[in-house]
Amino acid sequence: MYTILDCYTDEAAGLGVPPYLGTYPRYVYGYLNKKNTKYITIDDLRLFKKYEGKEKEITLKDKSQISTYNLTKNDIKKVLEKTKTLIVIVGVHVPGKYLSALPGTLKEVSELIKDIKCFKILTGPAVYGNQLLGGKFSESVPLLKKDVHEKNQGVFDEVSVNQGVFDEVSVNQGVFDEVSVNFFRFGYDEVSKISIKGAEILKQIKDPRVIEIETGRGCDIGKCSFCTEPIKNRVEYRDKKDVLNEIKEFYKLGAEYFRLGKNTCFYSYPEAVSLLKDLKKLKLKVLHIDNVNPVKVMMDKNDEITKTIVDVCTSGNIAAFGVESFDSKVVKENNLNCSPEVALKAIKKINEIGGEKGENGLPKFLPGINIIFGLIGESKKTHKENMKYLKKILDSNLLLRRINIRQAAVLPGTQLMKEAGNKFLRKNKKYYWKWRNEIRSKIDNEMLKKVVPKNTILKECYAEIYDGNKTFLRQFGTYPLVIGVEGRLELKKFYNVKVLEHMQRGLGGEVI
Ligand code: SF4
Repeated sequence: MYTILDCYTDEAAGLGVPPYLGTYPRYVYGYLNKKNTKYITIDDLRLFKKYEGKEKEITLKDKSQISTYNLTKNDIKKVLEKTKTLIVIVGVHVPGKYLSALPGTLKEVSELIKDIKCFKILTGPAVYGNQLLGGKFSESVPLLKKDVHEKNQGVFDEVSVNQGVFDEVSVNQGVFDEVSVNFFRFGYDEVSKISIKGAEILKQIKDPRVIEIETGRGCDIGKCSFCTEPIKNRVEYRDKKDVLNEIKEFYKLGAEYFRLGKNTCFYSYPEAVSLLKDLKKLKLKVLHIDNVNPVKVMMDKNDEITKTIVDVCTSGNIAAFGVESFDSKVVKENNLNCSPEVALKAIKKINEIGGEKGENGLPKFLPGINIIFGLIGESKKTHKENMKYLKKILDSNLLLRRINIRQAAVLPGTQLMKEAGNKFLRKNKKYYWKWRNEIRSKIDNEMLKKVVPKNTILKECYAEIYDGNKTFLRQFGTYPLVIGVEGRLELKKFYNVKVLEHMQRGLGGEVI
């Protein structure tokens, strides 16, 4: 029997951390096309191995245990006994903060599976490096078993692109029998079939999921110093009919929340407008997008894409702009794709077309921006420039739905790794808390008050976790805001919540 072990994935182009369901396990499931293929999560395995399969009671003093929160319907003991081949999906490249999930690292999963007797294959973005924490090099964990390494069964064809990760293979203490790039390199002809069959995986999952849908891979203009996407994929787009068929299949199986997020820029998808117009007929509960290149927003005729997004997608939608830095020196030295001026124009454009309040209480479509610390050429001036532009945005009454700040993960094969490694991260680390805090307190908090003013009612918020006598909820969708309410609400249920207060990035409210 085949078993897929999902340790969750987070890349610049594609999210597979619950409540998101990523493409990797779905495609592998569809590819195997065997009736009895099982899907389990790292949470299932942790619960089984560390807590004898018993979910911990969360007393009023406790916080929900997010490491064992995302369970499948499967009996893990039975599944592991019958497993002949275990396909392990690992890979966090752009580490974030996750409210109700904890992705597995190579180190952790190696430890958890070492005594399971079966053939073990590692796949997913981790074969290009894995790092749960920004500001660090990727994990360097021995992967392959000693005997496999000695026999050299052909898996080393891939070493050239993966040197950083495989350096340690020579230590020969790993647990995997094979490290496979092929399990996540399906051509789009194949994806057209396996993505449909893979939708069935949903039947094994307990809780609702946001289905991350792929529209394309590779990056058509970017050469950003920190990014692995151009190394991993050449530019390719899926046929619109394949994307539609996959969404329809999930919809038939009960999925209601979708994000067209597995791509590097939704505006680059050649059939963006017509795909959205076709999706309008499905009346999905949530339909969002993710990455957008600001340069594309400002291209001639692309207002049509923006207008169609506002018309078809559900509110709370975000164009996540990979601005990364407003310091033109850093932009240049890291080959970033967008100048500060273009970013500003694109922020204005999305605000003009999408800024109106939508049905779920949030504005329909707003820009979000990403800022990265630790890039080549970073100095104190970089923070000054970032603040200058962010203040300008705030003072012009333009809205940003969210500002993502992270430290660069230095990944093998990237320009950042080759030219600087963690040089700038080390040099400026002492300022990061201060820089981040200044953005959070002077910009985020003010922005949040404008985006979701006091007394706004946010609809359909899903109660996700407890922390002491508080419940934290989020709407389903892209980069949802976290809302804390006093008391313990029944988890995994929906509530309408009135906003009462604004924290730096989250909200406080009451159920109405
Ligand atoms: S624009 Fe830059 S960060 Fe975005 S996918 Fe392309 S290379 Fe990566």
